[in-house]
Amino acid sequence: MKETVEKEKKSVWEKYDKKDLEKLEKVCGKYIQFLSDCKTERECAAEVVRQAKEAGYRDLEEIIKKSETLKAGDKVYAVCMNKSVVLFCIGKKPIEEGLNILGAHIDSPRLDIKQNPLYEDSEMAFLDTHYYGGIKKYQWVTMPLAIHGVVVKKDGTSIAICVGEKKDDPVFCISDLLIHLAGEQMEKKAGKVVDGEDLDILIGSMPLKGKEKDAVKKGILEILKKEYDIEEEDFISAELEVVPAGKARELGFDRSMILSYGQDDRVCAYTSLDAMLEVEEPEKTSCCLLVDKEEIGSVGATGMQSHFFENTVAEIMDRIGEYNELKLRRCLKNSRMLSSDVNAGFDPLYASSFEKKNTSYCGRGVVFSKFTGSRGKSGSNDANAEYLAALRKIMDDHKVNYQTAELGKVDVGGGGTIAYILSLYGMEVIDCGVAVLSMHAPWEVTSKADVYEAQKCYVAFLKDA
Ligand code: MN
Ligand code: MN
Repeated sequence: MKETVEKEKKSVWEKYDKKDLEKLEKVCGKYIQFLSDCKTERECAAEVVRQAKEAGYRDLEEIIKKSETLKAGDKVYAVCMNKSVVLFCIGKKPIEEGLNILGAHIDSPRLDIKQNPLYEDSEMAFLDTHYYGGIKKYQWVTMPLAIHGVVVKKDGTSIAICVGEKKDDPVFCISDLLIHLAGEQMEKKAGKVVDGEDLDILIGSMPLKGKEKDAVKKGILEILKKEYDIEEEDFISAELEVVPAGKARELGFDRSMILSYGQDDRVCAYTSLDAMLEVEEPEKTSCCLLVDKEEIGSVGATGMQSHFFENTVAEIMDRIGEYNELKLRRCLKNSRMLSSDVNAGFDPLYASSFEKKNTSYCGRGVVFSKFTGSRGKSGSNDANAEYLAALRKIMDDHKVNYQTAELGKVDVGGGGTIAYILSLYGMEVIDCGVAVLSMHAPWEVTSKADVYEAQKCYVAFLKDA
């Protein structure tokens, strides 16, 4: 018994042979590329669809339009407003017996550009932002920033914007007060050091010749018109997200970790997708659900609280010839889900925020959290012991290295995921994911070993749950 516990707590790196390391590098290489290419929910959704199509998935809309039917082995996807995606691989068993669902979110904390953002002050042009999700505002100043998103014109044309990522692109930034004059600022609490309303990005300083008023702003507008065919008014119907500029990188002399923006929750989203595309002809219908808006409470049409998922399952059942209201409810009730989201990895520099026996460690494998929430587990989905027991068996059968954890010490803080929303159908749901250092910071840290174990865990789950 003692030996098992000791074994569980060791770094999983020591268990890997050459073959494991090759597979690990393959998964992580693709993941690093995904992180570098996809920094917004729209970019993630588009890339997921691209990869799914390549793997033989077809658009559900098209199948409905052509009145085609679905059978075991068929692969379909559906997209909600270009921001959420769900993939299904139809199983051999009747769909009423439930789905195996991998769920993760593809939105990340960032700064959104306001609808009336552009102004000039002291011969400098700025874009005003409103932050999205939980951020430490002081982390976002003085670093290179990129702008990603879309501007939709009145005629419906959508213009994709991505500035700050290519080698020759300019970048943007938010200035900070020099230390020499920061006496008063340094006395403030960290939450007040940088005001939310002051997170405005600097975008230009060259006045347009011959203009008296707002000449720098006019110069910027001229560039926007020339390069993107957009006018100042078009910001009204734009979704532009300000994110840290630059690619995901290997971290450490030993290259054992990954440093990147947006690993919460693209680390679980990517590994879920990769597992989904690997599993063919499953027993139970496989499902990979990648949603938007988790960071602000899973609200809106593209968040987990929307009926998008339930409606899509109904459409799938209809195409199989199995739809009625009762069968749909049974299907959802009989489903099993891994609500895949990141966990707070133990950080020795902030050891007092964690309880060492029940915290996740980078490099010790995929993390299961029986519950999340804060204070007395408030806001949590508390997974059933029976479900955890079944998952332990699946993980052991497939030699997946896992650990269990709570998010930090009791009463220190807390967090939530999409788990509680799916659990409303009466299905088994548990939080499962990857340990992250500096969660919600512009650059977050994960261990390659955990990325690899998460992918293995999701494959095992889709095959055997
Ligand atoms: Mn998350
Ligand atoms: Mn988060």
